[in-house]
Amino acid sequence: MITLRHVSRIYPSPAGEVHALRDVSLDIAPHSFCAVTGPSGCGKSTLLNLLGGLDQPTSGQITVDGLALHGAGEAELTAYRRERLGIIFQFFNLLPAMTAVENVELPLLLRGDSTKQARARAGEMLELVGLTPRTHAFPHQLSGGEMQRAAVARALVHRPALVLADEPTGNLDSDNAARILELFQKIASQRLATLIMVTHSPEAAAAANRQIALMDGQLST
Ligand code: ADP
Repeated sequence: MITLRHVSRIYPSPAGEVHALRDVSLDIAPHSFCAVTGPSGCGKSTLLNLLGGLDQPTSGQITVDGLALHGAGEAELTAYRRERLGIIFQFFNLLPAMTAVENVELPLLLRGDSTKQARARAGEMLELVGLTPRTHAFPHQLSGGEMQRAAVARALVHRPALVLADEPTGNLDSDNAARILELFQKIASQRLATLIMVTHSPEAAAAANRQIALMDGQLST
């Protein structure tokens, strides 16, 4: 369970304080697939940064599966990001000199898993996303949709509780976007992780189980 209680984030600026989030309270059930929507500047990135432990609220409380992110120390937040969180980006962020399976297994090798264990788990994840035939392909040999599926496999490989996706379909054509959204639905329904996706796309938002709409830093609707 993810809970936000009276979360505000105020950025100081020479022109005066910017209230990026104002008194946001929210519960997100485990294994849900939520879309965060709203116009540019409404606070979506701020919310994602707070959930990702990259920033701290000015006031209020955020807990993820019982771990309080507000007021957590840098070491605790680093461990949170490494162990509990997966991130999916608009531009995939695969390492170009590594094959699909090498990209996917890297987080496991970095934390000290054996090469055999890491390779086996990465293979399972490539199967989950339908990329087994592309296991040894380099990113430049993959389509955009295939690159994003490899990035989804990488985001899940260490069994995170929460996956944050920042405009994951923003760089894909509609067929490939639909495949990624189906994959997100499968991840939620198989209870593999909670997914929170920031999107400008109404089609992507409609694929989620829940929409969290922001307007001027507040929940709208
Ligand atoms: P979105 O992702 O919905 O476009 P953001 O969360 O990036 O919105 O921004 C919300 C508001 O906070 C905007 O008015 C933005 O200009 C402001 N903002 C974001 N980051 C900073 C920052 N580091 N310093 C000052 N203002 C910021």
